[in-house]
Amino acid sequence: MRSIAEALASMLPAFSPLGEEEVHLTKSSGRYTSRDIVARFDSPAFDNSAMDGYAVRAADVATATENTPVRLPLRGESRAGGALPGTLEPGTVCRIFTGAAMPMGADAIVIQEDTERDGDQVEIRHASPAGQHVRAQGSDVAAGAVLLRAGDRLWPGEIGLLASQNIDRVHVFRRPKVAVLTTGDELRELGDDLEPGAIVNSNVYVLTEMLRALGATPMALPAARDSLPDIEAALRKALEADVVITTGGVSVGAYDFAQEAFENMGIELGFWKVRMKPGKPVAFAQYDGKPVIGVPGNPISAMVTFEVLIAPCLRKMLGDPQPHPQPVVARLRDSYRRRPGRVEIARGVAAREGDEIVVALHDLQGSGSLPSFVGVNALVILPQDRAELAAGERVEAILWGPGLTGDRSCFEDLS
Ligand code: AMP
Ligand code: MG
Repeated sequence: MRSIAEALASMLPAFSPLGEEEVHLTKSSGRYTSRDIVARFDSPAFDNSAMDGYAVRAADVATATENTPVRLPLRGESRAGGALPGTLEPGTVCRIFTGAAMPMGADAIVIQEDTERDGDQVEIRHASPAGQHVRAQGSDVAAGAVLLRAGDRLWPGEIGLLASQNIDRVHVFRRPKVAVLTTGDELRELGDDLEPGAIVNSNVYVLTEMLRALGATPMALPAARDSLPDIEAALRKALEADVVITTGGVSVGAYDFAQEAFENMGIELGFWKVRMKPGKPVAFAQYDGKPVIGVPGNPISAMVTFEVLIAPCLRKMLGDPQPHPQPVVARLRDSYRRRPGRVEIARGVAAREGDEIVVALHDLQGSGSLPSFVGVNALVILPQDRAELAAGERVEAILWGPGLTGDRSCFEDLS
C-alpha cells in the first residue's frame, strides 16, 4: 500500500495546466496568470504631490524656519483631476492638493501645516528638500517592468495593480472541468422522496462545492446505479471532462464495480489503496492520460481524500506552482488513542490560546459521520505509527474552512 506522499507523487504528473484563456479583470479573481504581465506605462504616470500644501522650488525655501519664514507670491493651483498646471516661476509657489500634478520647475512640496496664507502671499515656515512629498513619475512602476509573473494568483491587490495600469483583460489558466460521478443504488437527489434504505446523495453536493471553492468547474452527473453497464455509460459521459472523480464502489463489496468498470473501459489503474485513514480504498487511474480518481463513498472519506490527494493536483492543474497546503503546528487539547498503521486525518477545531494553536479533535471521527465535519477548521495529521497521543502534544494541522477566527479582536491588547 502506498503512503500519501507516494500517492501524490504518482498523481501529480497527470495534472498539468490546460492552456490559457483571456478574461476580463472583473472576472479574474482567484485565477492564476498564465503569462508574465508587464506595465503599460510609468506609475505614477506624472510627478504628483503626496500631500496638501504648496509646490515650491526647494532652493527658494531652503532658509525657511519658524522664526525666519520666507514669503513668496502665490501663482495658480493644481488639483487632482484638474487642468495641468503651467511652469512654476522661480520665487513663487503654487497651491497643490494630494494627487495633483506638480507644476514644471517645482521640485518639492511644503505641507499646508507649515505655511500661513496671507492674501496672495504665502509664508513658508519650513524648508523642504528637493523631492519632499513628491511622488515621482515611475517611482512605483516603470513602463515595461514585470507586474506579475506567470503562475501568480489574482487576489484583490493584484487586481488593483492591473486596474491601475488600465489592463482590462488578463491571460489565465483555464479552469479544469471536473466530472463528479457518484455511484450507488441507494442514492437519491435533494428533495426526492426517501423510501426505506435510500439516502441522499450528499457527496455530489459536497464535492461540487469543494471543486468550486478551488476554482475548478464541476460537472455533476446523475448518480449511476451499482451495475457495470450503468457505471460504464456514466463513465463514458464523465470522460468528456478534463478530470473524473467517482465516489463509491471502490471497496471489495459485491456491488463495488468501479474497478471493473475502469478495466472494461480501458481506464488504466495506477494504484488502489493508500495508507491513510479515512480514505484507504482510493483508486487512481488514467484514460489516455486523463486522470480518473475513485474515492470511497463514505462522505468523510470522500471529503478527506479530496482535500489530501485531489485538491493539490487540481491546484497544480489550475496553474498554482505551489499547490501543497502547509500545515501549522498545534497542540492537542486532549489525549487520543488510535489504531496505528495509517496516517490519520482527524477533524478538529483549532483556536489561538496565547502563543499557541490548540486543537480539539471532534468526538465523532467515523468515516461516515457528517457531523464530524461541522465547525471543523483543522485537519489534524496524526502520524501512522503512534497509538497514543498525549494531551499537549505537538501535531501538524492543515487549516481548513474558515481557518482561525475568534470573538475577540487581536488589536485589543495593542495600545
Ligand atoms: P461504498 O463506497 O459505495 O461502499 O459506500 C460506502 C458508504 O457510503 C455507504 O454507506 C454508502 O451508502 C455511502 N455513500 C456512498 N455514496 C454516497 C454518496 N454519494 N452520498 C452519501 N453517501 C454515500
Ligand atoms: Mg456503494
